[in-house]
Amino acid sequence: MAYSYDDQNIFAKILRGEIPNDTVLETEHSLAFRDIRPQAPIHVLVIPKGAYVCYDDFAQNASDAEILDYTRAVGKVCEMEGVAANGFRLISNAGAEGVQEVPHLHVHILAGRPLGRMLE
Ligand code: ADP
Repeated sequence: MAYSYDDQNIFAKILRGEIPNDTVLETEHSLAFRDIRPQAPIHVLVIPKGAYVCYDDFAQNASDAEILDYTRAVGKVCEMEGVAANGFRLISNAGAEGVQEVPHLHVHILAGRPLGRMLE
């Protein structure tokens, strides 16, 4: 599948510095910042700086360096936020049925309260 990236999405604007954000971590290829409508005491979004719509776009089309940086950035934020001790959840919504609101890849890191069952 060919992915069409809309550079007017809100995370593209954050990456261009047009909209402020509460940065947790910035690396060469990734940015992590706090979700503006947190669903848990800890709710951080991690995005690649490259123009990737969703996880499968990124996994298929990003460079090895970007993928390594992004994967490590998610891990680093987990460490910085201290979520490993009590547990956490990673979510990446994609497309219409995945109910992806912002069409730039992001992983949600959620922690700090019991998160309940997602899959039955
Ligand atoms: P959903 O809203 O269903 O979770 P997404 O997976 O696309 O859909 O998540 C987009 C996330 O981006 C939401 O959690 C939303 O609160 C967050 N968000 C939107 N605008 C901003 C912003 N300017 N800064 C930080 N987070 C934002």
